[in-house]
Amino acid sequence: MPHAYDDQNIFARILRGEIPNDTVMETDHTLAFRDIQPQAPVHVLVIPKGPYVCYDHFALEASDAEIADFTRVIGEVCKMEGVQEAGYRIISNAGEAGVQEVPHLHVHVLGGRGLGRMLQPAR
Ligand code: AMP
Repeated sequence: MPHAYDDQNIFARILRGEIPNDTVMETDHTLAFRDIQPQAPVHVLVIPKGPYVCYDHFALEASDAEIADFTRVIGEVCKMEGVQEAGYRIISNAGEAGVQEVPHLHVHVLGGRGLGRMLQPAR
């Protein structure tokens, strides 16, 4: 079971309303909220409401409606946060190698400053 979902993860608890969040936007399938430890002036997390562990899980198993909505919300967040012109980065960490801390799919939308290179060159 590569993608067994743990419904006690912190984003599942946010979705159930058990802990608060700073919502940027919400739709039937998707929630966007501010990261609690922002790494840039704009740092918004976009998550599907369904129980998906990571990006490939979602991309392979979510409905077309969920995927379309999630993608659209990411675009709306870029627009609402005013990062379209200057640029931004979206990141989705997955699993151990990707250093994913919360096992519910999330995309980080980062912007508001120069973000540097994506990765350090491999040594
Ligand atoms: P990742 O390492 O990609 O799994 O990122 C998890 C992100 O979730 C980190 O950037 C955390 O700062 C963020 N985070 C953890 N708990 C919360 C929370 N309660 N509200 C908002 N962001 C959170």
